[in-house]
Amino acid sequence: MISFPTKLSSIYERLEAIDPIKYGTTRNYSDGALTYLSPYISRGVISTKIVFEFILKAHYAPKEIESFLQELAWRDYWQQVWKHKKATINWDIRHAQEDVAHNQIPKAILNGSTGIEVIDTGLEQLFSAGYMHNHLRMYTAAIVCNLGKSHWLRPAQWMYYHLLDGDWASNALSWQWVAGTNASKKYYANQQNINIYFYSNQRHTFLDLDYPDLVNRSCPAHLFETQHPNLNTQLPKTSSLRINPNLSTLIYNYYNLDPLWRSDANHNRILLLEPSIFELYPVAPKSIDFILALGKNIEALQIYVGEFDTLKKSYDLVDIIYKEHPINDHYVGLKEPRDWMFEVEGYFPSFFAFWKKCKKQLS
Ligand SMILES: Cc1cc2nc3c(=O)[nH]c(=O)nc-3n(C[C@H](O)[C@H](O)[C@H](O)COP(=O)(O)OP(=O)(O)OC[C@H]3O[C@@H](n4cnc5c(N)ncnc54)[C@H](O)[C@@H]3O)c2cc1C
Repeated sequence: MISFPTKLSSIYERLEAIDPIKYGTTRNYSDGALTYLSPYISRGVISTKIVFEFILKAHYAPKEIESFLQELAWRDYWQQVWKHKKATINWDIRHAQEDVAHNQIPKAILNGSTGIEVIDTGLEQLFSAGYMHNHLRMYTAAIVCNLGKSHWLRPAQWMYYHLLDGDWASNALSWQWVAGTNASKKYYANQQNINIYFYSNQRHTFLDLDYPDLVNRSCPAHLFETQHPNLNTQLPKTSSLRINPNLSTLIYNYYNLDPLWRSDANHNRILLLEPSIFELYPVAPKSIDFILALGKNIEALQIYVGEFDTLKKSYDLVDIIYKEHPINDHYVGLKEPRDWMFEVEGYFPSFFAFWKKCKKQLS
């Protein structure tokens, strides 16, 4: 079973193992040459820039690895959309979602009992390991939104809750892409597609139709029963902090656990877990365990559960430093830029407009 070790040496081994050429031809398959780096990128342990520079050092011809670089750049693209569109990504971003019947999630998805073997195994892995293959995420979102007629938002929050790599930009905007609110049409995949990419041979499921019939079919009986999942975050207990008033204070959070950040000097280092953020973007207990384990890579990191303002006031923090990110627009102090693969800034309505600019820097 896939697992996500938290020691830095193991994370760097994953970087060493990247095969960007094989990736390009296999990524859509269940046994593709994937990197399994997303939990570390999402949690800010490594950046897309670190992965990018690591790959460039191997002197591949840019053409050979373009597919890999593009996928990596999708992450930055969605983050740029979030940075510039802010909370509006929580609404249908380009078009209203068509043919919506409810805001819940089919019980068969919540229980991993759709009857489609590949999907049910993928859901089981999502719940236990906190990871799902990209193609399976697309299949799941298409079943939920386009056959089950759910509005995308609650299901996106549910998937984010279970993923160790939960990144609200990639998540919400990919769900919106599948549901057609962030694309010119909805995404559908039939049983034959699943059988090809996941090497199964199942037939006679509710997805076993040609595309015109699948697109026009009504909600399958398997998806009739729906439920509103309870998504609550269990934050750890906070203990009192030891603050050295002569040092500046670095604020880490769910999206920034960078062990190399200003590691050459002494600072107060605080992992801030704000209940208000986890109320908006709840996560499963295994994601909290994951960040606490990743935090061990950062020397003398202390944990504070509470709001930024309360932390600042309670400990009279003056010299605060943090990294720019949409979830911490409300922090005050010295805001540092974060890493990006390219110096391309702003909102681009399509990935390909964004990529065109990136590619210029590549050459
Ligand atoms: C419905 C849906 C929800 C998603 N939710 C998330 C999420 O919450 N967090 C998240 O990190 N990714 C999300 N993705 C994108 C993608 O599925 C994951 O980044 C990828 O599966 C992570 O596995 P990996 O590291 O092995 O990726 P690889 O395929 O090895 O790719 C390497 C890196 O490239 C980036 N990347 C690859 N594909 C994509 C993509 N389609 N979109 C954005 N970046 C990509 C990621 O940073 C990834 O770690 C979602 C996709 C869909 C369709």
